[in-house]
Amino acid sequence: MSLRITHLGSGSKGNATLLESDRAIVLIDQGFSGRSLERRLARMDLHPTDVDAILVTHHHGDHGGGALQSQRRWGIPVYANARTAEELGLLPELWRPFVGLEALNISDDLAALPVPVPHSGSDNVAFVVSHAGRRAAFITDLGSWTEELVRHVRGCEHISIESNYDARLLEEGPYPRSLKERIGGPGGHLSNDQTGRFLAEVVDASTKSITLTHLSEKNNRPHLAESTVLYHLDDLFQGDIRISLQDGPDFSVYLAPDVHHDGAQNEGMLRVGREDS
Ligand SMILES: [Zn+2]
Ligand SMILES: [Zn+2]
Repeated sequence: MSLRITHLGSGSKGNATLLESDRAIVLIDQGFSGRSLERRLARMDLHPTDVDAILVTHHHGDHGGGALQSQRRWGIPVYANARTAEELGLLPELWRPFVGLEALNISDDLAALPVPVPHSGSDNVAFVVSHAGRRAAFITDLGSWTEELVRHVRGCEHISIESNYDARLLEEGPYPRSLKERIGGPGGHLSNDQTGRFLAEVVDASTKSITLTHLSEKNNRPHLAESTVLYHLDDLFQGDIRISLQDGPDFSVYLAPDVHHDGAQNEGMLRVGREDS
């Protein structure tokens, strides 16, 4: 009984995160072309027709751009809030509506709580996924955060969160002033520094793994994201920190109960494994 978490790729050119439990295969976001999704899933020995549902965070093309096509071509049901469904023109018969802070029961062993986050021009949500009493958070595309988000993410065993830009690289980079201000504003994206400060608020002893996502190819570098976040976490966190880049899948993270030599499951412990592929 475990939940395997695999980012199929993350960045401004497309995002999709694969969640596999015993009972369900789910994507959070589908921002890739159909062919790109097929290719990425094939590396996990899966085909889009194996996917039971897609949960869409918001309508921006790099997150929801492949949702309608996934309904049409493969008949996959799509969970989305009203604004996102409307913007994407989702097929009503395969639309599973939700509202913020109302838990979605995806399968017998998987539930997801959508938590609204600030991201201009969209109704974006983070998802806190529950599996066998354990929780993992998936947070992307937000310029700031709320106390509500902190409350729901605190103590999650796994946290995937965007670490979009390095403030100095953005400032000195090629983007026009207006775009720099939008990215850096309260409805834009999180900088490495902001992500580190957010994580310092929510990480506790139960947090075993962190994956940084949605790194800007122009305004960030993996080593800057990781070192900045670790600076803020200091000795709060002893687990694994990894980075998912645009061309995944590169690795998986597992949430699984710890199994003792006598076979009994210790509900208080968590084993997070990972597998490079
Ligand atoms: Zn995005
Ligand atoms: Zn966005």
